[in-house]
Amino acid sequence: MTPNKKIKYIEKIYPELLKNLESCRLCPRNCQANRIKNEKGYCGQNKDLKIYNSFLHFGEEPPISGKRGSGTIFFSGCGLRCVYCQNYQFSQLDNGRVTEEAELVKIMLNLEKKGAQNLNLVTPTHFLPQILKALKTALEKGLKLPIVYNSSGYEKKGIVEKIAPTIDSWLLDFKYLNSKTAEKHSNSPRYPNLIKKIVSYLYNHENGQNRPNRGQIPPIIIRHLILPNHIQESIAILNWINKNSPKIPISMMSQYQPYFKAKHYQPIKRPLNQKEYNQIKQLIEELNLNGWLQEFITQKEMAGVYFKEDKTGLPD
Ligand code: SF4
Repeated sequence: MTPNKKIKYIEKIYPELLKNLESCRLCPRNCQANRIKNEKGYCGQNKDLKIYNSFLHFGEEPPISGKRGSGTIFFSGCGLRCVYCQNYQFSQLDNGRVTEEAELVKIMLNLEKKGAQNLNLVTPTHFLPQILKALKTALEKGLKLPIVYNSSGYEKKGIVEKIAPTIDSWLLDFKYLNSKTAEKHSNSPRYPNLIKKIVSYLYNHENGQNRPNRGQIPPIIIRHLILPNHIQESIAILNWINKNSPKIPISMMSQYQPYFKAKHYQPIKRPLNQKEYNQIKQLIEELNLNGWLQEFITQKEMAGVYFKEDKTGLPD
């Protein structure tokens, strides 16, 4: 969608999205918090947009970071709240700064000025009305960057359908395929059904079957954080993707560390081991999947090794 069309489209959907702040149903928790009256929802957020950080990120997947970095904005709060969250300081401990719309517009435009390849919105779901309003203003002021929606995958299909025309690339976690694991670690037994619906919808309706041309961002990338002692679940997820959405590039992350409440959960109390990593590596090779596998010993940067020849090239 061109910037002008995006502006018009946001004008159309904004009032309905905004209504959620009175009785919030933006994410699958449907907790109906009256955020306008300053009630906090399960995501920990009221009406005030809160940002933890924003910067040019060089550690995302190669087509997202490109050569000049991804203009990444980390929002505080989260509707999923995994016990092992790797970003718990701002997703659950609520670190961050209340940010007015005008400031968010400035952040977006500054990231573009600094040379960002795209605008990478990290965990934006619970702030969608505020973010889209700021995005509309930024577009009116000349923002041209592609928009990346970087999400835990805990999304409602109706909301995804609604905002899809404003999004250029979906960077989605696929965390669980087993509802018991999803319940135990993220208090959401529905997660597997929800993510399957979202991936299938995007794959079939949002250009997800197209491999990008050189320099383009893929319309969808699926990320999966491999959990220790849960290799069978990772294997099931890879097989599901291979069967149902084989053209989507996959980003396999091996960087898991037992952060936050993970120390209370015996099976996920440790990092991944070499044997588990090798099992996943072998399956990826067998299935001949597209994407990236994070190196085994790399804790700081998501600088994956491409496991099939990267024909897309890095965006200039
Ligand atoms: S976005 Fe937050 S307030 Fe809204 S339904 Fe989800 S958890 Fe509740």
